[in-house]
Amino acid sequence: ALSPSPLADLDTAALREAHSSFARAYDELKAAGLSLDITRGKPSADQLDLSNDLLHLPDGAYRDAAGTDLRNYGGPNGLTELREIFSGALRVPVAQLLALGNASLTVMHDTIAQALIHGVPGGDLPWANQSISFLAPVPGYDRHFTILERFGIRMIPVPMNDDGPDIEAVASLLAADDSIKGMWCVPVYSNPTGAVYSEKVVRALVSLDAAPDFRLFWDNAYAVHHLTDDRPEPIDVLTLAAEAGNPDRPLIFASTSKVTFPGSGVAFFGASPANIAWFQHNSAAQSIGPDKLNQLRHALFLKDADGLTAHMEKHRAILEPKFAAVDEVFRERLSPWGAGSWNAPKGGYFVSLDVADGSAKRAVQLAKEAGIAVTPAGSTFPYGEDPRDANIRIAPTFPSLDELTAALGGLCTAILLAEAETLLA
Ligand code: PLP
Repeated sequence: ALSPSPLADLDTAALREAHSSFARAYDELKAAGLSLDITRGKPSADQLDLSNDLLHLPDGAYRDAAGTDLRNYGGPNGLTELREIFSGALRVPVAQLLALGNASLTVMHDTIAQALIHGVPGGDLPWANQSISFLAPVPGYDRHFTILERFGIRMIPVPMNDDGPDIEAVASLLAADDSIKGMWCVPVYSNPTGAVYSEKVVRALVSLDAAPDFRLFWDNAYAVHHLTDDRPEPIDVLTLAAEAGNPDRPLIFASTSKVTFPGSGVAFFGASPANIAWFQHNSAAQSIGPDKLNQLRHALFLKDADGLTAHMEKHRAILEPKFAAVDEVFRERLSPWGAGSWNAPKGGYFVSLDVADGSAKRAVQLAKEAGIAVTPAGSTFPYGEDPRDANIRIAPTFPSLDELTAALGGLCTAILLAEAETLLA
């Protein structure tokens, strides 16, 4: 039998031999008739079970600490008790942290819509009256890109490093181009690379020369979603921005989607006092107030910051073995052939896998034909275009450990075949 060695080092004959052994393994995989799905970063049913007490809350309670009847209209800033629970983890003072509707993506979408229509504090014109663009660190989150595509906002990719976006690239783009009005940032356990922005990178992002109406879309979706004890100290981006003389630059978004129930959680918005006033003015025309009973339910369930931490530990216990399985399967199946490079994230929901250039789409296609649904290759790039056709986003949270292991094994079979095909082409 063929002993594994890096595919790139094999001569044509050895590569042909490897290819036929991968093709045989692939035929067996197909014959197994699997039906597995590792496409989206959703919590598993076990994780959802952790929050089932929410289904019984607020259990007759309907007043906040100040005695306000939460069954009625009003309270546009959201429940203070819940804002207090998240204020520390998000490093946003309670007065500047709003608790809103059921999903942060809606808040991001609407914030961009309001900026397009009305402009933002410090800007002369609505964004829609200018030709504007956004910086998009890649690989990144497809739904961020979808919002911009929908609004016809041009995206300029910038490379991601382990400590955040490549600051030299960001600096030279910002200095050269006043049309850049926004930048997506997932500062903690970035989707999909797991990168955590360093304080140095954050300081640069809030200080660099940019248009006065330039905003950092600070999507802190995974602030409390740790997988190890090695946790980043939360960065106070609002204070750093204020110190740098750009207090209005960050717009902070977060939610309880992967804390409690996605779709039935609570979204947060944090920003400078000027941005908060701008946001409140806009949203006053949109709504008479958020779902405060859902917010009360969440406050009663989580109790306080320590309750939140303890709850997230239960998620970690379920997720850690799944992320370990990704690393194990890839090490066992891909490493011997010199195939694939991936990260072992310390939190968040994803693993970012790079395969040989020109092989990602084919690998995902082969996996699909064998009954294994994987996030489409390219979706981590604006317009679905990965220039190297190399990146695949792995979402290990939803399937059971057995299903996940089977899906990853099958994906590796597909990747090896795809890489051998690319090298022989
Ligand atoms: N932001 C990031 C970076 C995400 O990965 C996700 C979900 O995968 C979301 C936002 C969605 O958040 P929400 O459910 O609050 O809309």
